[in-house]
Amino acid sequence: MPTVTISPRGEERIRRGHPWIYRADVGRVDADGGDVVSVIGPRGRRLGDALYSNRSQIALRMLTRGEAVADESLWRHRLEAAVAFRAQLAPDATAYRLVHAEADLLPSLIVDRYGDWLVIQTLSQGMDRRIDDIVRLLVEILHPAGVLARNDPRVRALEGLEQSVRVVYGEVPPAIEIDELGIRYHVDPWKGQKTGLFLDQRENRTAAARYARGRVLDAFSYNGGFGLRLAAHASEVCAIDISEDAVTRITANAAANGIANLSARAANVFDELRHFERTGERFDTIVLDPPAFAKNKASVEKAIAGYKDINMRALRILSPGGTLVTCSCSYNVDEALFLDIVHEAALDAHASVTLVEKRMQGRDHPVLVGVPETYYLKCLVLRRME
Ligand code: SAH
Repeated sequence: MPTVTISPRGEERIRRGHPWIYRADVGRVDADGGDVVSVIGPRGRRLGDALYSNRSQIALRMLTRGEAVADESLWRHRLEAAVAFRAQLAPDATAYRLVHAEADLLPSLIVDRYGDWLVIQTLSQGMDRRIDDIVRLLVEILHPAGVLARNDPRVRALEGLEQSVRVVYGEVPPAIEIDELGIRYHVDPWKGQKTGLFLDQRENRTAAARYARGRVLDAFSYNGGFGLRLAAHASEVCAIDISEDAVTRITANAAANGIANLSARAANVFDELRHFERTGERFDTIVLDPPAFAKNKASVEKAIAGYKDINMRALRILSPGGTLVTCSCSYNVDEALFLDIVHEAALDAHASVTLVEKRMQGRDHPVLVGVPETYYLKCLVLRRME
């Protein structure tokens, strides 16, 4: 069996429960990229099986600990456990995440369910090499109509893997209709953002609906996740996204659901918030769900300025007693920092603000304790006081 020997620091990381070993902690390598390897500690002790990459800074992703081996029955068991856990979480949705990589002890593997279809991403050399076996097991466990390998995320380049989108089982249509608590969406698994929908916000959309009233602003709306859900509680919903394509989709989704009080337009949220402030337009409920402003450590300062700007302006145009649901999906801006940013924004907006709920990515995207990289989405529910 291929082996990789690691440093004392690497061994300590594994002991602390982290599944990643960086290249700097790798010593002797007797393996090819993509192999399942036996990981050996600095004193010759076996530490478990891992996926090995010869390109990424993350050289090893642990699959097992100690003597346990990553054989067929382990893969099957992990997939079955991940699927069984979701069955109890999302009885009311037909689209959700089935496998959330490290947090399901299946590092670098994503599987999302859209009705009868599955979308899979294999984001490391080792997982990518096993895609046929994984798809075979998924078909046995779930009997999908088709499986799409949506392997176009940029992170694959770090592994030296090509970016491609292809059907790996059955057939996959260009549009899938899914249902989320009575709201129907048309999802494009081939070209939509992420695997088609922002599934990690599913439970936050439901939470936000509990506070929605009056005039609602859905800023960074994509195909309408929040806006469509909040519309039933609102006098009107104004949805804004910079992408024309997103606006076309949200408008079509609103029509398909018989929602008449939602209007969407393509614009830059930064400009629109300034415009509302100048013209005196006010909202009773605002959702801010921007893309990750801090994609890496180098962009954190700029991201802080961006988050502060939109939160300050949103608070300025929020009526007293109104609710701001504000999100950040940047792992590099952690919860404490995000709360600080919101504090600074409230000071500059001269608003007294209470924190009503602290939320995160949905329960189908759990956080692996001890692995901060797996806690990326923060969602705060704030109330602007009278
Ligand atoms: N709220 C959505 C997900 C939003 S993802 C849901 O629940 O499904 C972030 C969105 O912000 C993307 O659709 C992207 O097109 C849009 N976006 C990025 N920069 C923007 C900007 N400056 N102004 C408006 N929209 C922007």
